[in-house]
Amino acid sequence: MEMYQTTRALNRGIRVMNQAKLYFVVGSQDLYGDECLKQVAEDAKKMATFLDEKIGDVAHVELLPTVETSELCIEDMRKVESDDDCIGVITWMHTFSPAKMWIKGLQILRKPLLHLHTQANEFLPYDTIDMDFMNLNQAAHGDREYGFILARMGIPHQVVAGYYEHEDVVADIRKFAEVAKAIAFSRSLKVAAFGNNMREVAVTDGDRVETQICYGWETNYYALGDLVKIADQVTEEEIDKKMEEYTSRYTMKTDRIDAVREQAKYEVALEKFLEKNGIGAFTDTFQDLYGLKQLPGIACQNLMGKGIGFGPEGDYKIAAFSAVLMKMAENREGSTGFIEDYTYDLTKGQELELASHMLEVPVSFAANKPVIDAGDAIQVTLVDMGDHFRIICADIELVKQPKVMPNLPVARIMYRHKPNFRIGTAAWCYAGGAHHSVVSTSLTKEDIANFARFTGTELVIIDENTTEADLLKFCGRKF
Ligand code: MN
Repeated sequence: MEMYQTTRALNRGIRVMNQAKLYFVVGSQDLYGDECLKQVAEDAKKMATFLDEKIGDVAHVELLPTVETSELCIEDMRKVESDDDCIGVITWMHTFSPAKMWIKGLQILRKPLLHLHTQANEFLPYDTIDMDFMNLNQAAHGDREYGFILARMGIPHQVVAGYYEHEDVVADIRKFAEVAKAIAFSRSLKVAAFGNNMREVAVTDGDRVETQICYGWETNYYALGDLVKIADQVTEEEIDKKMEEYTSRYTMKTDRIDAVREQAKYEVALEKFLEKNGIGAFTDTFQDLYGLKQLPGIACQNLMGKGIGFGPEGDYKIAAFSAVLMKMAENREGSTGFIEDYTYDLTKGQELELASHMLEVPVSFAANKPVIDAGDAIQVTLVDMGDHFRIICADIELVKQPKVMPNLPVARIMYRHKPNFRIGTAAWCYAGGAHHSVVSTSLTKEDIANFARFTGTELVIIDENTTEADLLKFCGRKF
């Protein structure tokens, strides 16, 4: 119970939107007369209510006034932008809605936009259809006019096409809402860097000004002493309470209880620090542990389990990105977490990778339930290419470890690359993929593609369809 409250408090600083909503904006024009517009508003209301019932657990869907003029469009988009609980907007053209009417409204919009290409009616009424019906129900006409202006203006958006009540359409709208929520979270995310980047390491470094411009991450340095000061004041009672939480979540097969109590102290201190400063992700580096007796490994793992992003070696990008992806996955089954690539089994035709999962956590301190099991997953990372960011997303297959590794003191995952080891790992290397990434059994490459789309990030996908020929696309040289 106590823990639940602490987690909520942690999140408060990052402004979690319990009432997250999507506005539904329907396009028409004043040419058709009151009768037609009345019908448009009625159908729009019915659709908004339907969608709200279906995806309200992620974000509520609320209808705004029909766009009949440029002024109404501006008013609707102002509402979308000024409402802090609004994470994005769904638009649909019931009738034809001349798209010049949308230009000034769309210029205001910065939140994720879904273009729902649908109709109020599922079937064509062959026996009764007349010109009135054609004028009222012309998404095939109006949505193309609208699609043109989105393309012409370069507005990042996602198109979902199909009858709005169909399961696959609802599923896509739900996924859009989850990505939009993650983007809203990203734009308010604060990252604490304890110490700087690890000396000489390239991929964990990056342009913090640019990540704030692109993703909203406010990344700032804190002295480790700021944390040590709080840790020194953690009481034995607070440590006892944290140990109770550990016992309920993990199987402890260690005699080194003192070391675990030290970790518990760090976590209590970290929670206090994160809450006080409204921080949702943090980094540390083993080159700067002044005042700490150990790396806060268990503390970091447990915090990650609560959605707090963490990056070792000063990797602020993976700390922030993992927090964003955990937010994206929060309404789904499965697991999402930070991993580090380490070593391979190169048995011909049966190549496997061994990656450590969530830092230096001893197996003697294993989670009661395995966090990540066998099955389909994605591996995703984000790198700074100097003049732009690149997201690399690979489909992978998690496998059970073929044999026990009794001397390996880390939690780990093993996986198979796609389409095979040769192409999959070569593509990752060519693309500049980091050795820090997020593995998720909840998210798919489509979710990552939507995140890339809405944040204007270059995206490299590695999957079953990647070929030798694709590897040539990365040719080029820069000095
Ligand atoms: Mn590393």
